[in-house]
Amino acid sequence: MTLVTINNFVNNEYVPPTQGKYFDTFDPARGVPHGKVPDSSKEDVELAYKAASAAFPSWSKTSRPDRAKVLYKIADLIEARLEEFALAESTDQGKPVELAKTVDIPRAAYNFRFFAGRILHSVDEAADLVNIGFSYSQRMPIGVAGLISPWNLPLYLLTWKIAPCIACGNTAVCKPSEFTSLTAFMLCSVLKEAGLPAGVVNMVFGTGMGAGQAIVEHPRIPVISFTGGTVTGAKIIANSAKLFKKLSLELGGKNANIIFADCDFDLALKTSLRSSFSNQGEICLCGSRLYIERPIYEKFVSALVRGAKALKIGDPRQKETNLGALVSKEHWEKVMSYIDLGQKEGGKIECGGQKPALLPNEFKDGYFLEPTIISGLTPSSRTMREEIFGPVITVYAFDTEEEVVQLANDSDYGLACSVWTENGRRARRVASEIQAGTVWVNTWMARDLRMPFGGMKQSGLGREGGDHSLDFYSELKTICLGE
Ligand code: NAD
Repeated sequence: MTLVTINNFVNNEYVPPTQGKYFDTFDPARGVPHGKVPDSSKEDVELAYKAASAAFPSWSKTSRPDRAKVLYKIADLIEARLEEFALAESTDQGKPVELAKTVDIPRAAYNFRFFAGRILHSVDEAADLVNIGFSYSQRMPIGVAGLISPWNLPLYLLTWKIAPCIACGNTAVCKPSEFTSLTAFMLCSVLKEAGLPAGVVNMVFGTGMGAGQAIVEHPRIPVISFTGGTVTGAKIIANSAKLFKKLSLELGGKNANIIFADCDFDLALKTSLRSSFSNQGEICLCGSRLYIERPIYEKFVSALVRGAKALKIGDPRQKETNLGALVSKEHWEKVMSYIDLGQKEGGKIECGGQKPALLPNEFKDGYFLEPTIISGLTPSSRTMREEIFGPVITVYAFDTEEEVVQLANDSDYGLACSVWTENGRRARRVASEIQAGTVWVNTWMARDLRMPFGGMKQSGLGREGGDHSLDFYSELKTICLGE
């Protein structure tokens, strides 16, 4: 396979890393390198910062309709290259192409379209201070933003940062995950073709400790939007605290999926299979702790096991494939170590737990893992408390509503939760008691960008979506004019 060489994107030009260092990036389904990624340093971040800073005065003064026009064009161009982007996302991340084609890439385009519309239609507040004067709020872009994204939904999450950031007139230094740089690299040509002025978006590729930390510690980057793990989030808080940076942190989760006996069984089952194993369980919103009311526990778990065994794992390019490969060898090993730990902690593997035995030769070195269901663990076990971020879920029987609310909330995380019941009053009661930023009732992953999104507890700081993204990327001030 010919290796793609990725380069940084600064001032609308492709530039090699200043120190000339690259590392291999892998095709997870085949376990072989497919590209070379710049191992960027502080110097590369500085070049990107300078470009972003130089572009700021003009971009921040560009009218909203003119900014929106470029964002709409970016959305159109991503859609026009849907197939190409989907294939690249799968090669880089391991996910089924079909998933990238129907979820990741369309959402990346929508991110630009949504925020283009948002800036055209939003108005600031004004108050008539009768006989005294007039007061109004004004949103102003902040400056150069540092946008750092993870590997699980590479283009979707990166564009969810870039779109509101530039829509509000800021400029950006972006750092995609070192495991998945390809679609971000492809996006650079789209940005240029759409007419985005040079320097508005700069892409620096590399590791978290190298380029990522240099962005966080950069004294003149006042705002950081980060999506990734909770441990990294804590480092970012510590490393940026002395600079009083504005932070938006979207972090890890260990989401409860609560199934009451009066649920619509078939719908709860079908959706739970999806919420447990979509994208190989590598979605921060996946439900990984299933709490099932005792009267239906045995029946639900048996059906879930049958459903999990029927999922098709393998060639990400085949339309009927449900699970592709995990993102990297290191991550595969981490997930396997939790399967081991689960057994040591007294858990029983109801299904899965292994690399599939019958993979075509082409995929024998890929990082595949069967959907895995573990029962018999206690709520205090590490397997039930720590984020695994793979196709591994736990099942647990509960007896009362009070008990399950307590179990669901007994977590350091508070990102999302699903509740399955046909009892409307209970749905509302439980949904309001659950400590999570998003609670779904009888559904999963339904999202509207007009609504706030983010985690409670160690799942994050701040809210994105709708006006919240605008709040974050634009400084808000109140001006009062006297009579
Ligand atoms: P990660 O924290 O390891 O890395 C995320 C990004 O941060 C990468 O670009 C990485 O290079 C960079 N980074 C690492 N160390 C850094 C540092 N010290 N300073 C600056 N940047 C640094 O996370 P990951 O493994 O890429 O992603 C998986 C995690 O992301 C999971 O915990 C998942 O739950 C979380 N996630 C959360 C959301 C959400 O919306 N809450 C969405 C997707 C993923």
